[in-house]
Amino acid sequence: MNCKTKFIFVTGGVISSLGKGLASASIGALLESRGLRVSIQKLDPYINVDPGTMNPFQHGEVYVTDDGAESDLDLGHYERFTSATMGKHNNFTTGKIYHSVITKERRGDYLGGTVQVIPHITDEIKRVILLAADGVDVLIVEIGGTIGDIESLPFLEAIRQFKAEVGKENALYIHLTLVPYIGTAGEVKTKPTQHSVKELRSIGIQPDILLCRTDRSLAREIKAKIALFCNVGVDAVITAKDVRHIYEVPLNFHAEGLDDKIVECLRIWTRSPRLEVWEDLVARLRNPRHEVIIAIVGKYIDLTESYKSLNEALCHGGIPGDCAVSLKYVDSEKLEGDGWEAMLEGADAILVPGGFGPRGVAGKIRAAGYARERKIPYFGICLGMQIAVIEFARNVAGLPAAHSVEFDAATPDPVIYLMKSWYDEKTDSLQCRDVDSEKGGTMRLGAYPCRLVDGTLARSIYRRQRISERHRHRFEFNNAYKERLAEKGMIFSGLSPDGELVEIVELPDHPWFLGCQFHPEFKSRPMAPHPLFAGFIAAALAASGNRPNPDYKAEGGGGR
Ligand code: GLN
Repeated sequence: MNCKTKFIFVTGGVISSLGKGLASASIGALLESRGLRVSIQKLDPYINVDPGTMNPFQHGEVYVTDDGAESDLDLGHYERFTSATMGKHNNFTTGKIYHSVITKERRGDYLGGTVQVIPHITDEIKRVILLAADGVDVLIVEIGGTIGDIESLPFLEAIRQFKAEVGKENALYIHLTLVPYIGTAGEVKTKPTQHSVKELRSIGIQPDILLCRTDRSLAREIKAKIALFCNVGVDAVITAKDVRHIYEVPLNFHAEGLDDKIVECLRIWTRSPRLEVWEDLVARLRNPRHEVIIAIVGKYIDLTESYKSLNEALCHGGIPGDCAVSLKYVDSEKLEGDGWEAMLEGADAILVPGGFGPRGVAGKIRAAGYARERKIPYFGICLGMQIAVIEFARNVAGLPAAHSVEFDAATPDPVIYLMKSWYDEKTDSLQCRDVDSEKGGTMRLGAYPCRLVDGTLARSIYRRQRISERHRHRFEFNNAYKERLAEKGMIFSGLSPDGELVEIVELPDHPWFLGCQFHPEFKSRPMAPHPLFAGFIAAALAASGNRPNPDYKAEGGGGR
């Protein structure tokens, strides 16, 4: 295989949820800080072709890329930790791999030969790894699942072959394991790591570096023991200690010598890392001067994984104003009963995030009305914008039965509806949507341009006229109601360049009331907080009367 890129394969052992995604993203951040061009790819063992139709309760958020791929939420970490732009080549599932092999088989590409896991599936896996390697110095490939799962075996076999083909200076295996502290024994245990590495070696993969997830720093004897049993050098055993803020991980890995070890193993010559921006970020996050409380009114509140990018974007939004953002999750269904106002009390601002399906919609409409009337900052994202439009139509524009056709197909006033056809600037073609078409195939997905109207809140926040934001929705604002709502004061401040699609609505005479049809949370970075989130948190801070953070430590406290 002739390829200039170096490859790092990240696997996980013992249990899931050890933070493989964050570890991969942090490795990317460290290598980028040394001047390397990196990208990161996730290979997921499940059979779904993409996570687009998966339940957020089970799978967490569906992350959307510029090119419209509906992907695993780890791609969000990759984009937030590095400057790499993710796309459809950065996430493959077993389902997608099989789909393409079976398509080739049906087409006759294999000339009637028997199609097998080895070599056909493993060849396809190696092919898609190379797709993501284009133009980068180092590609980090995270293998989903845990060693020992049946599903991940073809991926592991493929990466085993891969290293043999590119040579050991060009590929590296990093294995993330757990080193638990057992209170009754008063010590940390290395056996789970030993077992996991043994399992990995039995399928032909000898890890080069071990990342040991633990709640404490590992003593040198412990590292030496792990090194001995797992057949790696002591300096290849890295403590991956629990952190308070995820953005501490790259700094901790660096302090453990991880990036030095990686460049040594891969024989890459680089400058020393420049980590000042990370140090500054962590110092700010550890000791913010102010605090705001944001109520998130949604359906998936039990599982914060389903709002991963949203939570991160809110945290980033607090950084410019030196402000900690505390989230108060409010189950929208609970807002449908009596005494609902009490559940929103104490929040400095209200956010209604994206969502699908009718459950809890009435509660969200109440929350939007509450924010509008009481002049509490309101941010509606995707469904949250549609909710703001419905509430305004009903209670301000005198259309009491106004609704979205998603929730009431027979509404007399479909203010949010399914646009049957629309001109798609991206493909320069007319797109058609229809209610009966296959689920998952009819959404407006990925980056679309938007023109901001002069003199509006949106325009002043972005300080630009043209923006591009990511979408994931089926329904749109119905232009038949534009004039009527505008007469009553609603401002349509962001439109598609041809003026046909409403992208942002806002209300004047209100401290901050804005809804957007797109998902700005997918484009926020800790080093470059998204302007809408920074603006929203600034409004919440003003609404709170600049409340101080009770934990703030003046003068050198908290690492500042
Ligand atoms: N359910 C709405 C639609 O499909 C909103 C989707 C979303 O919030 N992502 O248009």
